[in-house]
Amino acid sequence: MNIYVTKTFLPPREEYEKFLDQIWQSHWLTNNGPILQSLEEELKNFLGFEQLLYVSNGTIAIQLIIKALELKGEVITTPYSYCATTTAVLWENCKPVFVDINPHDLNINADLIEEKITDKTSAILATHVYGNPCEVEKIEAIGKKYNIPVIYDAAHAFGAELNGLPVLNYGDASTCSFHATKVFHTIEGGSVMCKNEALFEKLKLYRSFGHVNDDYFSLGINAKNSEFHAAMGRAVLPHLATNIAKRRQKSELYDSLLDFEKLFKPLSHYTEFKSNYAYYPVVFQDADITDKVIAALKEENIYPRRYFYPSLNTLPYAHSQDSCPVSESVVSRVLSLPLYPDLADEDIHRISKIINQHI
Ligand SMILES: *Cc1c(COP(=O)(O)O)cnc(C)c1O
Repeated sequence: MNIYVTKTFLPPREEYEKFLDQIWQSHWLTNNGPILQSLEEELKNFLGFEQLLYVSNGTIAIQLIIKALELKGEVITTPYSYCATTTAVLWENCKPVFVDINPHDLNINADLIEEKITDKTSAILATHVYGNPCEVEKIEAIGKKYNIPVIYDAAHAFGAELNGLPVLNYGDASTCSFHATKVFHTIEGGSVMCKNEALFEKLKLYRSFGHVNDDYFSLGINAKNSEFHAAMGRAVLPHLATNIAKRRQKSELYDSLLDFEKLFKPLSHYTEFKSNYAYYPVVFQDADITDKVIAALKEENIYPRRYFYPSLNTLPYAHSQDSCPVSESVVSRVLSLPLYPDLADEDIHRISKIINQHI
């Protein structure tokens, strides 16, 4: 059996089917249906945050907030994220300006942001990489000083907490992905949260073509999600705490087995941080060793993932001149190791042994 970097959690089938029965009864399949509304309520309660919209994916969530904030010109962002963070900026006709990452947690280096701010800078868009929070206080202070909004791509951070607050609640706005590969998923799906009320009303309209019945208010797009997706969310959410606890146990087993003299694991510097154990990333000493590890694991049908790769400033369509030496180096040396709730402990032993032998 192949082992991949992740394996989507599926709830007991009858827990999903219970919602299917409701759908067959209501005959309401999409367009803000009752199951979607109830999921949205559950998400708001879970996060303790009212202004949240459930949308069709995590990428459209970023595009919606960029559009609603009417961002123009340059957006300061991180080169170390999934490509969607950058493509959302480009898609909305803004220019991504890449600020290199810090070598500890691989988040945007907050100390390098200010020197990249120009009179064209309209926002900061950073990713909480692997669910580890960015330096939120420093970045908030920069946002305030230059009067520009701070947006977080919090696609990795659902279930993580900083200072007792969900990581998703930081920033003027944040987005999340509920894609099947994430800690909490609705097959496809995402959310956008923001603190400003007028902005939230705008996002609501944008999600659904900009109109309410026969009243047409603004431009919009189709960022809605279906009852079937929301039903998966309702069925998966009650298992979140158990799944995070299992992920934690697996992560700690890797921690106890891997040879940290020869590899490095990105970690949050915050002491008041509760991880969601979304990923198990390791950074090797050089690209050759990384390739050897990939080949050795492949022999055993084990497939970790280069995550993230490539450094987004090097995407051909980004046309960026920014140099990000830390990010460019890390992408050639990083692997996310298999991690999911029912990954067998013996497989973690096997994976760790192979890695230790090849570094
Ligand atoms: C998964 C992910 C996205 C994209 O989310 P989708 O729901 O797949 O559109 C964006 N940013 C980051 C950091 C991600 O990990």
